[in-house]
Amino acid sequence: MKVIMLGAPGAGKGTQAKKIAAKYQIPHISTGDIFRANIKNGTELGKKAKTYMDQGLLVPDELVVDLVVDRLNQEDCKNGCVLDGFPRTIPQAEALDKALKSLGQKVDYAVNVEVPDENIVTRMGGRRACVGCGATYHLVYAPTKEEGICDTCGGGLILRDDDKPETVTKRLNVYHEQTQPLIDYYAQAGILKEVDGTKDIEDVFREITGILGE
Ligand code: ADP
Ligand code: AMP
Repeated sequence: MKVIMLGAPGAGKGTQAKKIAAKYQIPHISTGDIFRANIKNGTELGKKAKTYMDQGLLVPDELVVDLVVDRLNQEDCKNGCVLDGFPRTIPQAEALDKALKSLGQKVDYAVNVEVPDENIVTRMGGRRACVGCGATYHLVYAPTKEEGICDTCGGGLILRDDDKPETVTKRLNVYHEQTQPLIDYYAQAGILKEVDGTKDIEDVFREITGILGE
């Protein structure tokens, strides 16, 4: 099963993708996480990606597509995967279709997590990420057991640079211009599934499993 998560930044794609990966035993592939790991490790890719990410812009397609195609070719993706944060542009979606076709595969579901822009700024302002393992929390909606400490690895928590309000507004504009057209793209392909992302995390997940099956 190949699943794509669509939705604005902060809509809850990563939160739901992790739950899908655990339930259906498929890898969770987040291009944002891959870039952040590269930044942390000081790689050339990380240095290039950071200049775009810090401004709330998308990393150019040519830096993203090969990375994802290589990842999809790995053995653990044979039975499926959940893609989170990719594709984000029409050329990325076309490149994904082409790469999967050459493997005799296709995208099965494009799940659009719908959250209005008004809710997004609150979501992102309260998001906290672990500096150690990258796990994501929310001060109000998904708090850690102990304040400021990651439940998984005990690492410290930070507000991502690109979650500061001025960058969030930019990212939302970029989303509407470059990523939202994917909703029509997948609707035309007949695989678009809409879920209400304003509900509680568990309720959103129940809607998703209702679509993907038990
Ligand atoms: P995305 O991957 O789409 O950028 P995240 O999954 O990181 O978004 O979620 C953004 C923030 O909102 C996180 O802090 C997360 O804990 C919180 N969050 C996710 N889903 C919900 C929800 N359904 N209700 C309230 N908060 C949520
Ligand atoms: P995310 O963690 O998905 O919110 O991504 C954080 C940032 O990484 C985005 O704002 C972009 O700058 C960059 N990024 C992640 N995925 C992609 C992608 N598929 N295409 C272009 N840029 C991306």
